[in-house]
Amino acid sequence: MERRKFITIAGTAALTVPIMGTIASCSPAPEKFEGHKFPELGYGFNALEPYIDALTMELHYTKHHQGYFNNFLAAAEGTELTETPMERIFENINKYPVSVRNNGGGFYNHVLFWENMTPSPKEMPALLKKAIERDFNSFDNFREQFNSGAKTHFGSGWTWLALNSDGKLFITSTANQDNPLMNVSGITKGVPLLALDVWEHAYYLKYQNRRAEYVDNFWNVVNWEAVNNRLVKANNK
Ligand code: MN
Repeated sequence: MERRKFITIAGTAALTVPIMGTIASCSPAPEKFEGHKFPELGYGFNALEPYIDALTMELHYTKHHQGYFNNFLAAAEGTELTETPMERIFENINKYPVSVRNNGGGFYNHVLFWENMTPSPKEMPALLKKAIERDFNSFDNFREQFNSGAKTHFGSGWTWLALNSDGKLFITSTANQDNPLMNVSGITKGVPLLALDVWEHAYYLKYQNRRAEYVDNFWNVVNWEAVNNRLVKANNK
């Protein structure tokens, strides 16, 4: 609203431009929300082979993820949700129908998941490495805790590395398409930094019942730069 007002003023009253310009350069403009978008996959369906097979990737992205997105849009149609960023929707998720929670979560969680994987992983950036070592003592401890969460989570869901409001990293798992941004009792709240899908549709074609093997192989394709970028953004909030 503020931003829209500013543009109108700056556009119609030339005299106010320098003053408004000074103010605008001091405080960053809020990110403009341009509607819910289904994301491009940043790599080919076969790019994460042999750890995640091409057919699983294709079905997961074109059927499951697209399905959540379409169903979320259908649930949001004609409401203010079409104009509301997902993070804000999740803050008030208990006010909305369960179809928004399930499909909105399904839409959002997979966006994070695709982004935090890459066919060409690089070394973990120093900021993230330091934070992990501070809060888990070592990378090995962190991985062990995350693995244990992902391997033992009962039924469908997700395992997360997230940042809490005290600036501390933690690992948690959520059921179904829930995530740590959701204002729901039983969910430990935080900003998600790393997401692992442990629904059977994420691994069953290749790994069948061997979820543990899928979880162990996940570490070969983690995009640490993407995780680090989320940490930077969360720290600056
Ligand atoms: Mn999935």
